Amino acid sequence: MKARYRYRIYPNHIQITRINQLFGCCRYVWNQSLAYCNQLYVSGQKKPSYTDLTKQFITQAKKELVWLKEVASTPLQQCLKDLDQAYKNFFNSCSGKPKAIKVKHPKFKSRKSRQTARFVGANYKVGQDKLYLPKVGKIKIVWSRLLASQPTSVTIIKDSDNRYFASFVVETLPEPLPKTENSIGIDLGISTFATLSNGDKIEGPKPLKQNLKKLAKFQRKLVRTEKGSKRRERRRLRVAKLHAKVKDIRTYFLHKLSTDLVKKYDTIVLEDLNVSGMVKNRKLSKTISDLGWRKFRILTEAKCEKYGKEFRVIDRWEPTSQKCSCCGFKGGKKELNVREWTCLSCGAHHDRDINAAVNILEVVQPKTKVKAVKETVAENPIQLSLFVSEAPPQEAEVAEGQPETIKRTWSRRNSTRKKVVDGNDVSTRPEFFKQLSLFD
Ligand SMILES: [Zn+2]
Repeated sequence: MKARYRYRIYPNHIQITRINQLFGCCRYVWNQSLAYCNQLYVSGQKKPSYTDLTKQFITQAKKELVWLKEVASTPLQQCLKDLDQAYKNFFNSCSGKPKAIKVKHPKFKSRKSRQTARFVGANYKVGQDKLYLPKVGKIKIVWSRLLASQPTSVTIIKDSDNRYFASFVVETLPEPLPKTENSIGIDLGISTFATLSNGDKIEGPKPLKQNLKKLAKFQRKLVRTEKGSKRRERRRLRVAKLHAKVKDIRTYFLHKLSTDLVKKYDTIVLEDLNVSGMVKNRKLSKTISDLGWRKFRILTEAKCEKYGKEFRVIDRWEPTSQKCSCCGFKGGKKELNVREWTCLSCGAHHDRDINAAVNILEVVQPKTKVKAVKETVAENPIQLSLFVSEAPPQEAEVAEGQPETIKRTWSRRNSTRKKVVDGNDVSTRPEFFKQLSLFD
């Protein structure tokens, strides 16, 4: 199992110049090769191989461009390997190989975005408090934790906040945690970040929302400065710093939560959310992106693998918010503002999110009796008495005056006879209760 270990590095002024030079060279090789590939594509030729590109844009180019020789050559080669991989992923995606994942054509690298350069093999060295990189020197590194094993590669990263990091790839062994015999279903939401099937609600930090005003102010000031000026760079940095802070708060929370869950539970069940589709909703996109659902899933999945726990994702079409978790009665679709509802069949009063979380877990473990969340019985049980009786009443008796809305069907879950109300979400419509009480 491969894992990434990231540490902050503190290069001095000279080293910063050298690292930036390296980034520049990597960018040059990438962009030149990509432009060449594009050119060949337009004239109807095939994409050149990695070896061809290396010959042309590293070996040959070094003869003409002196500055390309001043940096280590491994990162340049790795750059072209990445380009090769990017093309492979793109071609595979075009032929529909990895389903549902669309990979775009490789893009040109910009001087303004995050910069990376990767060293592999034996040409970098890891020391007590230094990291040695060829043609850069010994850089101060803070080992915030021990490396699990000998790394296979190190990527030097400079983020938009001008911070430098070293990201090592190491081979790790799974560290199984003791089994707890507990399982949990998690419903991710907007108002509450996560609702667990045991009834716990976990609030997310929403760091972007908290800093939105400040960010808007900083950005307004940024656009008013002259391009290329020192002041602009200062203000750009201020925006980038705030963005980095927002990201750090979110990441910290997600790491903490996922670790916590993996320690407590043997099986973690999540719902497959169509996040990329949801963020197309302009009213919700900012809020959803601020939560970091996708990252939460990635982190939880990786930690489950590492600690020997089971991670499951259920289908997004599963009617988790429509079904009653006590009896399986399906109440139909509910608007987002309906936070609580009462089951028409068994009278259980549900919190929308907790009910969904219980259902998510039940999809994976239908036999286990999920520890019932303390349900409050509906205030007005008379309205439901028709449905509670054991012997199914006759059709005419139940549905008198309402033949279209109530009919008996086979419940999907238990394959025992239960009455299911079709169509609209009747349980959330108070006027329907009144209608029923007429039959009592
Ligand atoms: Zn019910």
